[in-house]
Amino acid sequence: GEALAVSARVAPLGSRLVLLLVEDLTEARRIEAVRRDFVANVSHELKTPTGALSLLSEAVMDASDDPEAVERFAGRMQVEATRLTNLVQELIDLSRVQNDDPLEDAEPVRVDELVAEAMDRCRHQAGTKQITMASGGTADLHVWGNRGQLAAALGNLVENAVNYSPARTRVGIAARRVAAPGGDLIELSVTDQGIGISDKDKERIFERFYRVDPARSRATGGTGLGLAIVKHVAASHGGEVTVWSSEGQGSTFTLRLPEAGSARDRSSHRPGLD
Ligand code: ADP
Repeated sequence: GEALAVSARVAPLGSRLVLLLVEDLTEARRIEAVRRDFVANVSHELKTPTGALSLLSEAVMDASDDPEAVERFAGRMQVEATRLTNLVQELIDLSRVQNDDPLEDAEPVRVDELVAEAMDRCRHQAGTKQITMASGGTADLHVWGNRGQLAAALGNLVENAVNYSPARTRVGIAARRVAAPGGDLIELSVTDQGIGISDKDKERIFERFYRVDPARSRATGGTGLGLAIVKHVAASHGGEVTVWSSEGQGSTFTLRLPEAGSARDRSSHRPGLD
């Protein structure tokens, strides 16, 4: 195609330059394809709840003399409206963390507060499944970063741990300081005894809208954007997120972030970890 035509024209300039040009075009194409896929995905995800809402509102009007049916349809409308709200909120979160600006409003953030906030966010869902949540090692630790973004990232990991686990299991959140060459890091890990993730899926779960089981994800109100948000938050903080998992046994997601006060928080925009 175009890339080959260009490479033929500039061939006399030397093969290194040609290779660079071809790679550039391929990268531009890839970015364009990712952008197109994203817009298609968003449109599709918006269509599902909006379509359902319009059908359900018609059904409510048709059933106006049947109070029981009205109540049933209204309940389903609420589910769809919540799904829509979640999706829009996560799209806003994602666009906020995706811009490559230096981290805004970075400050020392208490780890025990982040963990408490993440657990609060999931307490209701955990309660209905009788899932026990416990945390340890959080005292006296501070990470450097944007409080809202960090809370969203950890909250997403805990929410997933609860959502992808069977009833009466445990979700643990552990924090510790680890020494690293560029400055100390705080490691936050979320461990569940849930369904686990296959090696093949592990490579893709951090992509926007990728779900192992779309039906299961939707049933729990998942948008498929949560881990993409976590990954961007980690990167914009100069940290990383990794996953260990064993199918049928459970998963551990680990966030590594700069410790407040360590050498690592001095530059406002750090490169990711190696
Ligand atoms: P979702 O909104 O679907 O939860 P995420 O981006 O948070 O989207 O996660 C992507 C997919 O990764 C999920 O749909 C699920 O299949 C898988 N996943 C995430 N966390 C876990 C977990 N703790 N255990 C098992 N599977 C998980």
